[in-house]
Amino acid sequence: MSERTIRIVIAGPRGKMGKEAVKMVTDTEHFQLKAVVDTKNAGKMLKDLEDQPNLEIPVFDDLRTCLSETETDVIIDLTKPDSGKKHLEIALEYGVRPVVGTTGFTDEEIARFSETAEEKGIGVVIAPNFAIGAILMMKFSQMAAKYMPDVEIIEQHHDQKLDAPSGTAMKTAQMIKEVREPKQQGHPEETEDLKGARGGDVDGIRIHSVRLPGRVAHQEVLLGTTGQTLSIRHDTIDRSAFMPGVKMSVETIMKLDVLVYGLENLME
Ligand code: NAP
Repeated sequence: MSERTIRIVIAGPRGKMGKEAVKMVTDTEHFQLKAVVDTKNAGKMLKDLEDQPNLEIPVFDDLRTCLSETETDVIIDLTKPDSGKKHLEIALEYGVRPVVGTTGFTDEEIARFSETAEEKGIGVVIAPNFAIGAILMMKFSQMAAKYMPDVEIIEQHHDQKLDAPSGTAMKTAQMIKEVREPKQQGHPEETEDLKGARGGDVDGIRIHSVRLPGRVAHQEVLLGTTGQTLSIRHDTIDRSAFMPGVKMSVETIMKLDVLVYGLENLME
Protein backbone atom coordinates (compact mmCIF):
# COMPACT_ATOMS: atom_id res chain seq x y z
CA MET A 1 0.00 0.00 0.00
CA SER A 2 1.51 3.37 -1.00
CA GLU A 3 1.68 6.18 1.55
CA ARG A 4 -1.05 8.16 -0.16
CA THR A 5 -3.56 5.29 -0.33
CA ILE A 6 -6.79 6.12 1.51
CA ARG A 7 -8.48 3.14 3.16
CA ILE A 8 -12.25 3.36 2.77
CA VAL A 9 -15.43 1.73 4.09
CA ILE A 10 -18.73 2.35 2.28
CA ALA A 11 -22.06 2.10 4.12
CA GLY A 12 -25.02 1.38 1.84
CA PRO A 13 -23.24 -0.34 -1.12
CA ARG A 14 -26.47 -1.81 -2.54
CA GLY A 15 -28.11 1.60 -2.86
CA LYS A 16 -28.20 3.69 -6.03
CA MET A 17 -25.55 6.07 -4.67
CA GLY A 18 -23.64 3.30 -2.89
CA LYS A 19 -23.18 1.35 -6.14
CA GLU A 20 -21.73 4.42 -7.86
CA ALA A 21 -19.45 4.99 -4.87
CA VAL A 22 -18.15 1.38 -4.94
CA LYS A 23 -17.35 1.87 -8.63
CA MET A 24 -15.65 5.23 -8.06
CA VAL A 25 -13.56 3.95 -5.11
CA THR A 26 -12.48 0.72 -6.81
CA ASP A 27 -11.63 2.67 -10.00
CA THR A 28 -9.45 5.21 -8.14
CA GLU A 29 -5.85 4.17 -7.87
CA HIS A 30 -5.05 5.79 -4.53
CA PHE A 31 -8.28 4.60 -2.87
CA GLN A 32 -8.58 1.15 -1.30
CA LEU A 33 -12.02 -0.27 -0.49
CA LYS A 34 -11.52 -2.20 2.77
CA ALA A 35 -15.11 -3.23 3.64
CA VAL A 36 -18.76 -2.36 3.17
CA VAL A 37 -21.64 -2.08 5.64
CA ASP A 38 -24.92 -3.64 4.53
CA THR A 39 -27.47 -4.70 7.15
CA LYS A 40 -28.80 -7.54 4.99
CA ASN A 41 -25.62 -9.33 3.86
CA ALA A 42 -23.32 -9.75 6.85
CA GLY A 43 -20.60 -12.38 6.46
CA LYS A 44 -20.71 -12.33 2.65
CA MET A 45 -18.15 -10.82 0.27
CA LEU A 46 -18.83 -7.89 -2.04
CA LYS A 47 -18.65 -10.26 -5.06
CA ASP A 48 -21.66 -12.19 -3.63
CA LEU A 49 -23.89 -9.11 -3.88
CA GLU A 50 -25.87 -8.42 -7.04
CA ASP A 51 -24.32 -5.99 -9.56
CA GLN A 52 -21.12 -5.61 -7.58
CA PRO A 53 -17.52 -6.08 -8.71
CA ASN A 54 -15.92 -9.50 -8.31
CA LEU A 55 -13.93 -8.54 -5.20
CA GLU A 56 -13.15 -10.32 -1.93
CA ILE A 57 -14.18 -7.39 0.24
CA PRO A 58 -15.94 -8.24 3.50
CA VAL A 59 -19.52 -7.18 4.24
CA PHE A 60 -20.45 -6.21 7.81
CA ASP A 61 -23.94 -5.53 9.07
CA ASP A 62 -22.81 -3.05 11.68
CA LEU A 63 -20.34 -0.16 11.44
CA ARG A 64 -19.00 -0.58 14.98
CA THR A 65 -17.91 -4.20 14.30
CA CYS A 66 -16.58 -3.16 10.90
CA LEU A 67 -14.39 -0.39 12.31
CA SER A 68 -13.10 -2.54 15.18
CA GLU A 69 -11.94 -5.16 12.68
CA THR A 70 -10.86 -2.97 9.75
CA GLU A 71 -8.12 -0.35 9.46
CA THR A 72 -10.02 2.57 7.97
CA ASP A 73 -9.23 6.20 7.16
CA VAL A 74 -12.59 7.30 5.75
CA ILE A 75 -16.16 6.03 5.89
CA ILE A 76 -18.47 7.10 3.09
CA ASP A 77 -22.09 6.99 4.26
CA LEU A 78 -24.81 6.82 1.61
CA THR A 79 -27.58 5.13 3.60
CA LYS A 80 -30.53 7.09 4.98
CA PRO A 81 -30.91 10.07 7.29
CA ASP A 82 -31.15 8.25 10.66
CA SER A 83 -28.31 5.80 9.96
CA GLY A 84 -26.18 8.57 8.43
CA LYS A 85 -26.27 10.37 11.80
CA LYS A 86 -25.63 7.16 13.74
CA HIS A 87 -22.69 6.26 11.51
CA LEU A 88 -21.23 9.74 11.86
CA GLU A 89 -21.31 9.36 15.64
CA ILE A 90 -19.67 5.90 15.51
CA ALA A 91 -16.99 7.11 13.08
CA LEU A 92 -16.04 9.96 15.43
CA GLU A 93 -15.92 7.48 18.32
CA TYR A 94 -13.42 5.37 16.34
CA GLY A 95 -11.40 8.34 15.05
CA VAL A 96 -12.37 7.59 11.44
CA ARG A 97 -13.16 10.49 9.10
CA PRO A 98 -16.77 10.43 7.85
CA VAL A 99 -17.96 11.69 4.46
CA VAL A 100 -21.73 11.78 4.86
CA GLY A 101 -24.07 12.23 1.92
CA THR A 102 -27.35 11.69 3.74
CA THR A 103 -29.48 14.72 4.47
CA GLY A 104 -31.79 15.87 7.27
CA PHE A 105 -29.20 17.26 9.72
CA THR A 106 -30.56 20.06 11.93
CA ASP A 107 -28.49 23.16 12.79
CA GLU A 108 -28.20 21.84 16.37
CA GLU A 109 -26.89 18.46 15.17
CA ILE A 110 -24.35 20.12 12.91
CA ALA A 111 -23.19 22.33 15.81
CA ARG A 112 -22.91 19.30 18.12
CA PHE A 113 -20.96 17.20 15.58
CA SER A 114 -18.72 20.22 14.81
CA GLU A 115 -17.84 20.49 18.47
CA THR A 116 -16.94 16.77 18.72
CA ALA A 117 -14.92 16.90 15.47
CA GLU A 118 -12.98 19.90 16.75
CA GLU A 119 -12.36 18.33 20.17
CA LYS A 120 -11.05 15.17 18.52
CA GLY A 121 -9.27 16.98 15.66
CA ILE A 122 -11.01 14.77 13.09
CA GLY A 123 -12.17 15.99 9.69
CA VAL A 124 -15.86 15.49 8.86
CA VAL A 125 -17.66 16.31 5.61
CA ILE A 126 -21.45 16.47 5.47
CA ALA A 127 -22.57 17.31 1.94
CA PRO A 128 -26.28 17.53 1.18
CA ASN A 129 -25.33 17.65 -2.49
CA PHE A 130 -22.15 16.28 -4.09
CA ALA A 131 -23.00 17.60 -7.57
CA ILE A 132 -20.71 20.48 -8.42
CA GLY A 133 -23.33 22.06 -10.74
CA ALA A 134 -25.80 22.10 -7.85
CA ILE A 135 -23.28 23.94 -5.68
CA LEU A 136 -22.89 26.55 -8.42
CA MET A 137 -26.70 26.83 -8.62
CA MET A 138 -26.79 27.57 -4.86
CA LYS A 139 -23.97 30.11 -5.12
CA PHE A 140 -25.58 31.90 -8.10
CA SER A 141 -28.91 31.96 -6.22
CA GLN A 142 -27.24 33.55 -3.21
CA MET A 143 -25.64 36.19 -5.45
CA ALA A 144 -28.97 36.93 -7.14
CA ALA A 145 -31.01 37.06 -3.91
CA LYS A 146 -28.97 40.02 -2.72
CA TYR A 147 -30.61 42.04 -5.51
CA MET A 148 -33.87 40.07 -5.89
CA PRO A 149 -34.87 39.05 -2.36
CA ASP A 150 -38.25 37.44 -3.22
CA VAL A 151 -37.41 33.78 -3.72
CA GLU A 152 -39.28 30.50 -4.10
CA ILE A 153 -37.49 27.15 -4.37
CA ILE A 154 -38.97 24.17 -6.20
CA GLU A 155 -37.09 20.91 -5.71
CA GLN A 156 -37.97 17.65 -7.46
CA HIS A 157 -36.76 14.14 -6.60
CA HIS A 158 -37.57 10.49 -7.28
CA ASP A 159 -40.41 9.06 -5.19
CA GLN A 160 -38.11 6.85 -3.06
CA LYS A 161 -36.60 9.84 -1.28
CA LEU A 162 -37.45 9.68 2.41
CA ASP A 163 -37.04 13.27 3.58
CA ALA A 164 -38.56 16.55 2.44
CA PRO A 165 -37.55 19.17 1.69
CA SER A 166 -34.21 18.12 0.22
CA GLY A 167 -31.01 19.04 2.05
CA THR A 168 -30.04 21.10 -1.00
CA ALA A 169 -33.22 23.17 -0.82
CA MET A 170 -32.68 23.81 2.90
CA LYS A 171 -29.04 24.69 2.29
CA THR A 172 -30.00 27.07 -0.54
CA ALA A 173 -32.51 28.79 1.75
CA GLN A 174 -29.88 29.10 4.48
CA MET A 175 -27.38 30.64 2.04
CA ILE A 176 -30.03 33.10 0.83
CA LYS A 177 -30.92 33.96 4.45
CA GLU A 178 -27.34 35.15 4.91
CA VAL A 179 -27.71 37.88 2.29
CA ARG A 180 -31.26 39.16 2.69
CA GLU A 181 -33.40 40.58 5.48
CA PRO A 182 -36.15 38.21 6.70
CA LYS A 183 -39.34 39.07 4.83
CA GLN A 184 -42.81 37.74 4.35
CA GLN A 185 -43.38 36.96 0.68
CA GLY A 186 -46.64 37.14 -1.18
CA HIS A 187 -49.65 39.19 -0.13
CA PRO A 188 -49.57 40.14 3.58
CA GLU A 189 -53.15 38.88 3.91
CA GLU A 190 -52.78 35.71 1.81
CA THR A 191 -54.49 32.59 3.14
CA GLU A 192 -53.62 28.97 2.54
CA ASP A 193 -56.93 27.31 1.72
CA LEU A 194 -55.26 23.98 1.03
CA LYS A 195 -52.70 23.08 3.74
CA GLY A 196 -49.17 23.13 2.32
CA ALA A 197 -50.16 24.95 -0.88
CA ARG A 198 -47.59 27.68 -0.21
CA GLY A 199 -44.89 25.15 0.68
CA GLY A 200 -42.51 25.17 3.64
CA ASP A 201 -41.31 28.46 5.09
CA VAL A 202 -37.66 29.20 5.91
CA ASP A 203 -37.49 32.81 7.08
CA GLY A 204 -40.09 33.75 4.48
CA ILE A 205 -38.44 31.75 1.66
CA ARG A 206 -40.93 29.18 0.33
CA ILE A 207 -39.81 25.64 -0.51
CA HIS A 208 -41.95 23.28 -2.59
CA SER A 209 -41.07 19.56 -2.82
CA VAL A 210 -42.17 17.38 -5.74
CA ARG A 211 -41.74 13.56 -5.62
CA LEU A 212 -42.17 11.59 -8.85
CA PRO A 213 -40.92 8.32 -10.29
CA GLY A 214 -38.56 9.04 -13.17
CA ARG A 215 -36.96 12.05 -11.52
CA VAL A 216 -33.41 12.00 -10.07
CA ALA A 217 -32.60 15.34 -8.38
CA HIS A 218 -33.62 18.75 -9.71
CA GLN A 219 -33.97 22.23 -8.28
CA GLU A 220 -35.17 25.54 -9.62
CA VAL A 221 -34.73 28.77 -7.71
CA LEU A 222 -37.20 31.44 -8.86
CA LEU A 223 -36.45 35.06 -8.03
CA GLY A 224 -38.87 37.86 -8.80
CA THR A 225 -38.90 41.63 -8.68
CA THR A 226 -40.95 44.31 -10.40
CA GLY A 227 -41.43 43.41 -14.05
CA GLN A 228 -38.91 40.55 -14.16
CA THR A 229 -38.13 37.07 -12.92
CA LEU A 230 -34.96 35.04 -12.92
CA SER A 231 -34.84 31.20 -12.87
CA ILE A 232 -31.73 29.32 -11.85
CA ARG A 233 -32.04 25.60 -12.48
CA HIS A 234 -29.92 22.51 -11.99
CA ASP A 235 -30.75 18.97 -13.12
CA THR A 236 -28.98 15.81 -12.08
CA ILE A 237 -29.83 13.22 -14.69
CA ASP A 238 -27.51 10.45 -13.51
CA ARG A 239 -26.07 9.57 -10.08
CA SER A 240 -22.55 9.47 -11.53
CA ALA A 241 -22.85 13.28 -11.31
CA PHE A 242 -22.28 13.03 -7.56
CA MET A 243 -19.05 11.03 -7.65
CA PRO A 244 -16.46 13.76 -8.43
CA GLY A 245 -17.79 15.55 -5.32
CA VAL A 246 -17.53 12.37 -3.18
CA LYS A 247 -13.98 11.80 -4.46
CA MET A 248 -12.97 15.39 -3.72
CA SER A 249 -14.45 15.08 -0.20
CA VAL A 250 -12.48 11.88 0.53
CA GLU A 251 -9.25 13.46 -0.67
CA THR A 252 -9.78 16.72 1.20
CA ILE A 253 -11.02 15.22 4.47
CA MET A 254 -7.59 13.72 5.08
CA LYS A 255 -6.24 17.27 5.53
CA LEU A 256 -9.13 18.50 7.70
CA ASP A 257 -9.46 18.60 11.49
CA VAL A 258 -12.92 20.23 11.64
CA LEU A 259 -16.40 19.60 10.30
CA VAL A 260 -17.23 21.07 6.91
CA TYR A 261 -20.91 21.29 5.99
CA GLY A 262 -21.53 21.67 2.26
CA LEU A 263 -19.29 20.90 -0.68
CA GLU A 264 -19.14 24.61 -1.50
CA ASN A 265 -16.90 25.04 1.53
CA LEU A 266 -14.39 22.59 0.05
CA MET A 267 -14.38 24.31 -3.35
CA GLU A 268 -12.07 27.30 -3.99
P1 NAP B 1 -31.14 3.98 -1.85
O1 NAP B 1 -31.02 3.48 -3.24
O2 NAP B 1 -32.41 3.77 -1.10
O3 NAP B 1 -29.95 3.33 -1.01
C1 NAP B 1 -29.80 3.39 0.36
C2 NAP B 1 -29.09 2.11 0.78
O4 NAP B 1 -28.68 2.24 2.14
C3 NAP B 1 -29.98 0.87 0.69
O5 NAP B 1 -29.29 -0.16 0.02
C4 NAP B 1 -30.22 0.53 2.16
O6 NAP B 1 -30.36 -0.85 2.36
C5 NAP B 1 -28.94 1.00 2.79
N1 NAP B 1 -29.02 1.21 4.22
C6 NAP B 1 -30.02 1.76 4.96
N2 NAP B 1 -29.69 1.77 6.25
C7 NAP B 1 -28.47 1.20 6.35
C8 NAP B 1 -27.60 0.92 7.42
N3 NAP B 1 -27.91 1.23 8.68
N4 NAP B 1 -26.41 0.35 7.16
C9 NAP B 1 -26.06 0.03 5.89
N5 NAP B 1 -26.85 0.27 4.82
C10 NAP B 1 -28.04 0.83 5.06
O7 NAP B 1 -30.85 5.54 -1.78
P2 NAP B 1 -29.83 6.40 -2.65
O8 NAP B 1 -30.56 7.08 -3.74
O9 NAP B 1 -28.64 5.59 -2.97
O10 NAP B 1 -29.43 7.52 -1.58
C11 NAP B 1 -28.75 7.19 -0.41
C12 NAP B 1 -28.67 8.40 0.50
O11 NAP B 1 -27.90 9.42 -0.13
C13 NAP B 1 -30.05 9.02 0.79
O12 NAP B 1 -30.04 9.50 2.11
C14 NAP B 1 -30.12 10.18 -0.19
O13 NAP B 1 -30.96 11.23 0.27
C15 NAP B 1 -28.68 10.60 -0.22
N6 NAP B 1 -28.26 11.27 -1.44
C16 NAP B 1 -27.30 12.20 -1.29
C17 NAP B 1 -26.82 12.86 -2.39
C18 NAP B 1 -25.75 13.90 -2.20
O14 NAP B 1 -25.29 14.46 -3.21
N7 NAP B 1 -25.33 14.18 -0.98
C19 NAP B 1 -27.31 12.56 -3.66
C20 NAP B 1 -28.27 11.55 -3.80
C21 NAP B 1 -28.74 10.91 -2.67
P3 NAP B 1 -31.83 -1.54 2.44
O15 NAP B 1 -32.23 -1.72 1.04
O16 NAP B 1 -31.52 -2.81 3.15
O17 NAP B 1 -32.69 -0.62 3.23
